[in-house]
Amino acid sequence: MPEEGLNWLSRKELMTYEEMLQSCALLVNMGIEKIRITGGEPFVRKDLMQLLTALSALPGLNELTLTTNGVLTAPYVPELKRIGVTSVNLSLDTLDANRFFSITKRDEFSKVMETMEQLLKHDIEVKINAVVMDGKNTQDIIPLVELTKDLPVSVRFIEEMPFNGDGHVYGGLKWDYVRILDEITGKFPSIKKLKDAAYSTSYNYHIPGHKGSIGIIAAYSRTFCGTCNRIRITPQGELKTCLYDGGVLNIKDLMRSGINDNDLQAKLLDAFGSRPKDGWEAEHNRSINDPAHESMATIGG
Ligand code: SF4
Repeated sequence: MPEEGLNWLSRKELMTYEEMLQSCALLVNMGIEKIRITGGEPFVRKDLMQLLTALSALPGLNELTLTTNGVLTAPYVPELKRIGVTSVNLSLDTLDANRFFSITKRDEFSKVMETMEQLLKHDIEVKINAVVMDGKNTQDIIPLVELTKDLPVSVRFIEEMPFNGDGHVYGGLKWDYVRILDEITGKFPSIKKLKDAAYSTSYNYHIPGHKGSIGIIAAYSRTFCGTCNRIRITPQGELKTCLYDGGVLNIKDLMRSGINDNDLQAKLLDAFGSRPKDGWEAEHNRSINDPAHESMATIGG
């Protein structure tokens, strides 16, 4: 979140749960097998569990997952397990409570750790998303790797992206995936490359003897676009066929204009078919007045 906060949108600018459910049902019917709810933070939304329960019942949906900051999540973990959520991504950039406060401006580190504990206790896969930020948390890379020694978690280091939300010019990347891997290899020379799953956007590794694994996500270098099959829908209903595009179709507006499912499906297929070849092309296609700068809190991960 940008330090000065965000401009809050009026409720009517946001998709309703009914619209989210209806559009997800259509997409699942078209062949989408996995849905991840991100944010912002999903658990600040009232009645989130109702949406998740309804999504989990969609015939054809194989995987329902979440990305959360873990602050409000712990009490919901048994219910997440019950409705079949199998994997949760926890956003956690540091294991140091003071640095956590300075990065997030919130004194909630212990609640995030409690969420991690609950997820593991309920046998829900935990992936930790840590954005590597020069001058802020690079000293956390090794402690985060060490977390995988005793815990069966996947710690994923993500290159910092230009989505800072405050419009300041992105100064370039100091910690790319190569440097992150070098840092880890320096301390753990026995690290082994794992075979990456189909459509994976992370390079995955394992340190012999550790219970968990490591992933590195070249989110700025964009070296894995060839296997990316993700689409995103923002809270305002904007379809993004790449994280870096500025939105290619507004699903909410089309639904509110009364479009029928067949016509919406045709528009979606058209958008998927016109997808840029990679994140560089998607960013290049944006208007000069709309560079990639919006806050990640408004896009989701
Ligand atoms: S195509 Fe876009 S969303 Fe997919 S991996 Fe590349 S940059 Fe990320």
